[in-house]
Amino acid sequence: MTTTPNPGLLSRDQARLIHPLHNPGLHQQAHIWARGEGAVLTDTEGNQYIDGLSGLWNVVAGHGRTELAEAAARQMDTLGYCSGYAGSSNPAAIELAEKLAELTYPSITRFFFTSGGAESTETNIKTARYYWKLKGKPDKTKVISLQWGYHGVTLAAMSATGITAYWPMFEPRVPGFVHIPSPYPYRYESAGDQTQGVAAANELEQAILREGPETVAMFLAEPVQGAGGVIIPQPDYFPRIREICDKYDVLLVSDEVITGFGRTGRMFGLDHWGVEPDMIQFAKAITSGYFPLGGTGVKEEIAQVLDTGEMVWMHAFTYSGHPVGCAVALRNLEIIEKENFPAQAADKGAYLLERLQSALGDHPHVGEVRGLGLMLAVELVKHKETKAEFPAQDQIGPKIHAATEKRGLFSRLRGDVFLLAPPIVISREQLDHTVEIITESIEEVL
Ligand code: PMP
Repeated sequence: MTTTPNPGLLSRDQARLIHPLHNPGLHQQAHIWARGEGAVLTDTEGNQYIDGLSGLWNVVAGHGRTELAEAAARQMDTLGYCSGYAGSSNPAAIELAEKLAELTYPSITRFFFTSGGAESTETNIKTARYYWKLKGKPDKTKVISLQWGYHGVTLAAMSATGITAYWPMFEPRVPGFVHIPSPYPYRYESAGDQTQGVAAANELEQAILREGPETVAMFLAEPVQGAGGVIIPQPDYFPRIREICDKYDVLLVSDEVITGFGRTGRMFGLDHWGVEPDMIQFAKAITSGYFPLGGTGVKEEIAQVLDTGEMVWMHAFTYSGHPVGCAVALRNLEIIEKENFPAQAADKGAYLLERLQSALGDHPHVGEVRGLGLMLAVELVKHKETKAEFPAQDQIGPKIHAATEKRGLFSRLRGDVFLLAPPIVISREQLDHTVEIITESIEEVL
């Protein structure tokens, strides 16, 4: 079904654009996207694809939502921009913060807005340091995070990110960032008689003790690791993490940039395990990607430290609390609640997982099919018994990706792990078609 992409636009693109993850040699078959409708993307040549990753995990409400366009137009018409610096605000930002206080964890009461995920990571790292300084513990500055974690690519966020491919060309990393093994049920190996989840969580305690509890500011983790391969932790992982953070006065920061607003089948990720964080960060789904908006939320005790005014929190973005972004977010959250996205993600995700497991579970090169809500992954391995990976030069992941693209599905990979997170509005027929495409593609390549 694929035809050659528009050669005129492609050569103009290559002449003038630097892309995220730039490497033109690897991207000769680029797509120039022209339109979207629901869970389907159309390129300038008229080829159609199921949007297997909702853009970049963000377009939960699907493409072509006129309500969001209208909300943006109305706000742009009334007030297209105003500063959010102390002394200025706008009704949409105020209303959005109030709405978030209703929707997020009961522990999280005060909100700051950014333009995306990485700015939110930076904000939480700086806020944690600020908080500990004002609490009289100025040495608590270190950040512990997970291997395979992804938190953005600005320098501190990159240093917290635990996917090592993001580091070498930009090192040195910011000092004071420590990584612990991921609670990766398929691959984590624990010694002793602890459950795997408790053993993986205890890696945090060991790291805190190694670094010195008086030097550790925060533990940063995604409830379900997304870009790192849809890694769903064991049910006892986060409850034990919460205990460890409390014991050593370490702030628990939940990166909900992908898991926030329904994707996993609950409104926020840690809701699955009854754990409340001290700080959160969000982006992506809050506007379904229609406007670049992210943010952070903190517990009341942190908010009160910010309110003392003892030391100005010299942190700000021009676009913090952007009225258009906030208006789009408010309209989008209305859709998320009205159409009950958490329940839809839970139902459709369970269906997709079951279909993929029955189609692929016995395949000799499918190590694991896993998912929580509409966040799923198929992990391909050379040997099912040993879980050994294919050598990188076999290019299994890219070959599978090309095979799925040829059949009308567009998503992303982590190595040989095929990722899936379609828009929550995806139809049953489109889910069935997704399963067919992945199954045929794996059978063709392997
Ligand atoms: N945190 C998580 C969990 C993410 O998935 C991402 C983006 N994929 C980010 C942070 C960074 O967001 P952004 O690309 O908007 O900076």
